[in-house]
Amino acid sequence: CFITFEGGEGAGKSTQIERLKRRLEALDQPVLVTREPGGSTRAEEIRAFILGGHAKHLGPFAEALLFAAARIDHLDKTIVPALERGTHVLCDRFADSTRAYQGSAGNIDKALIDQLERVTLRGSKPDLTFILDLPAETGLARARERQAGRGESADRFEGEAASFHHSLRRAFLSIARDEPKRCVVINADQEPDEVEAAIWASLRERLPQ
Ligand code: C5P
Repeated sequence: CFITFEGGEGAGKSTQIERLKRRLEALDQPVLVTREPGGSTRAEEIRAFILGGHAKHLGPFAEALLFAAARIDHLDKTIVPALERGTHVLCDRFADSTRAYQGSAGNIDKALIDQLERVTLRGSKPDLTFILDLPAETGLARARERQAGRGESADRFEGEAASFHHSLRRAFLSIARDEPKRCVVINADQEPDEVEAAIWASLRERLPQ
């Protein structure tokens, strides 16, 4: 099945994706881990363009179109073929990030985002989405620690004002309220083992093997 992970900065998505991958592989289930923006050759090029700071003067709608272009290639080249082979796909961010980052936080009309999502996904919606939720301050502190540890400077999004991160959190929680069947909110403000256990319990409950 197609599982996406969403959440603000420093929520621990990549750690939890790796852990879920290991659990599924231990049950002999094939797994593909991928990420957005990116996940295919062309989409990685678009990622480099956006995250390299080249898109910052375009405004949120043009940026949403770039994310959509990357998502189309990612779906066509990576995600859909894997699902067709019977491989589980675990994706680090997906269309909900566009809703939250460009839509809510960037103030794009919801109807326009809905329309863009429909033409981009063409029916390939995630079966399940884990929204890793934690206070904006905690996530930002974690993200800063991680970047300092790697000797990196804050990227373009992590450098945004705290209010931006609060509105992101509200946006993800509102997506979860709108689509309670697909979305599961996980408290990410706890130890990684506890987050992992919550994700696993929820997966087993929703998608019985
Ligand atoms: O998952 P990660 O946090 O590494 O994502 C890379 C960056 O891309 C993040 O800083 C996120 O803020 C940004 N992003 C975005 N809009 C999206 C997807 C990702 O602004 N639709």
